[in-house]
Amino acid sequence: ASMREARIKRTKTVCTYCGVGCSFEIWTKDRKILKVEPSVDAPVNGISTCVKGKWGWDYVNSEERLTKPLIRQGDEFIEASWEEALNVIATKLTEIKEKHGPDSIGYIASSKCSNEENFMFQKFARAIMGTNNVDNCSRYCQSPATAGLLRTVGIGGDAGSITDIGSSDLVFVIGANPAESHPVLATRVKRAHKLHGQKLIVADLRKNELAERADLHIHPKPSTDLIWISAVTKYIVDQGWEAREFLANRVNGLDEYIASLEIYTLEYAEEMTGLSKEELIQVATMIHEAKSVCALWAMGVTQHMDGTETSTAISNLLLITGNYGRPGTGAYPLRGHNNVQGACDFGTMPTWFPGYEKVADDSVRARYEKAWGVSLPTSTGLDNHQMVEEMNEGNLKALYLFGEDMAIVDSNSNHVDTGFEKLEFMVVQDVFFTKTAQFADVILPAAPSLEKDGTFTNTERRIQRFHRVFEPVGDSKPDWQIFQEVANRLGANWNYTHPSEIMDEAASLAPLFAGVTYERLEGWNSLQWPVAADGTDTPLLYTERFSFEDGKARLVIPTWSEPYEAGEEYDLHLNNGRLLEHFHEGNMTYKSKGLTHKVPYPWLEVSKELAAERGITDGALVRLSSPYGHVKVQAMVTDTVRGKELYLTMNSAEDEMAVNRLTSSYHDKETHTPAYKEMGVKMEIISET
Ligand code: SF4
Repeated sequence: ASMREARIKRTKTVCTYCGVGCSFEIWTKDRKILKVEPSVDAPVNGISTCVKGKWGWDYVNSEERLTKPLIRQGDEFIEASWEEALNVIATKLTEIKEKHGPDSIGYIASSKCSNEENFMFQKFARAIMGTNNVDNCSRYCQSPATAGLLRTVGIGGDAGSITDIGSSDLVFVIGANPAESHPVLATRVKRAHKLHGQKLIVADLRKNELAERADLHIHPKPSTDLIWISAVTKYIVDQGWEAREFLANRVNGLDEYIASLEIYTLEYAEEMTGLSKEELIQVATMIHEAKSVCALWAMGVTQHMDGTETSTAISNLLLITGNYGRPGTGAYPLRGHNNVQGACDFGTMPTWFPGYEKVADDSVRARYEKAWGVSLPTSTGLDNHQMVEEMNEGNLKALYLFGEDMAIVDSNSNHVDTGFEKLEFMVVQDVFFTKTAQFADVILPAAPSLEKDGTFTNTERRIQRFHRVFEPVGDSKPDWQIFQEVANRLGANWNYTHPSEIMDEAASLAPLFAGVTYERLEGWNSLQWPVAADGTDTPLLYTERFSFEDGKARLVIPTWSEPYEAGEEYDLHLNNGRLLEHFHEGNMTYKSKGLTHKVPYPWLEVSKELAAERGITDGALVRLSSPYGHVKVQAMVTDTVRGKELYLTMNSAEDEMAVNRLTSSYHDKETHTPAYKEMGVKMEIISET
């Protein structure tokens, strides 16, 4: 037995799925994954994981892994050596840059990859290729929340820690489904609610699992969150329940903001949102009576044309009631991917250097220019949305994308496809031959987290280390090594030998990470940024000051806008979201036997009223159409949704079921995040069960 045990390897890693950031040991023997074992020492999850973290690892050893570089020849892809593939990339990128300028090339980063890899990729785009056209998938999800928080409190991250949510008196969940999207975090809320008398309010179009358990579930009309949140805020002020001392000492802009609330009367809110006055008063009263309130929100808020504005309204409500800077309070935009926070933090954004310092700021830029020995582009680059538009216009000529299946996850997929088709050159670097890879000219085989070292940052700004378990499969390589090789072909002289050196460089340049070192992240240790040079981290933000020069928060007046209307014939509202067993486009989870056995494909939730009216039976196959495309899905008749509101689970790699065949290019005005949640569709029955 001891011989056998000796061959079993235990390696600490961090989950590859959601933004909660569970860590655990993975037990392996040769290339076999034996089990996943969480530990009481894991800072976020302790002994818990969800099904994805526990059973979602088959993809690593999938037969479908890319093992060799591929080069397009006509309609086919031919296996190539690294040498050949890198030569093609270097030649084509140089040619296009010389002919059309550095801004004719776009760079899409990955929230599945490490902080170090994202750091290197933005360095590659900026320092080697000379453009700020670099972005990541936060553009599809939480950019509006980041923007709303940057405006009001100065930092675009969760205010405190996940453990802290458990200590809150009242948890207010808006447009999020943590029980499926952030399961281990939801467990903390469930436990606190059940055992410690924590109060729970859920505002959602669906009666999701937390809504079922909540003390109060409110169901406003779609796209009206800003109105009812502002009405609740106004009611609180009208009752004299605002946190006077906190506001006087720590917040700017109070009078103007209060004046702006005038229109948000209970009557107006009732008419616009469909919520009753009693419900609004109950929300306000519960907030008033709670000693500490934290607000959790996700895509149900952000994926709207006024996502940034609504996020601002939520932050304002927390400020008005003094719910920042103390344990159990604050804003928690729940991050989707395991490292979407880190991808933003480490600079794969068109506006920011690592650590949220503006690319347009001369003194910041000078610091990077000095360190990197080059001159850097001064103007803000294109974001994902703008890149797609510029591709379609024929202005963006080339794209380098890694670990992101944009052809499935971006809205209005048909429009994205036509953009890709117009590119002169496209590089896709991924673990699998994705939908997006079909458009590529060169495909590079990358290694997943179990085959490399690095760090991920979860939704609560926690940086955690993951360790290499296996050698990369075939000729695949860690993304950071690939970037180094590509960069060196294009004139760089990089010689990083380990990701820790990349982190050292990031820490030396970005004050937010000043004290981050691999030594401080050994074992189960982790750090929540900002991290001071002496290694002191920050589990709870804003205890003394907000992140502005004068240390004071700012109440910013948000404005509501009418949602996008598809037209009269599209008389149903389609909402969409995740389910517990699958993740995003499903490239990883659909390769796990257990998960796919449990949930083989997506489905459409249809209310009992609508089913009766339209003669839809459980299991019927229906076609949904929008002005942008159509999908075929199975209907499930349920009371989780209401009236003419439909819900489609979004995790599908199958084109004919993928929700983004239906979504539009309408977007949040401030951040260009697609308005995925504003969708009118019509429904026809194809066949009954
Ligand atoms: Fe992974 Fe999220 Fe599940 Fe934790 S809750 S195991 S991080 S998917």
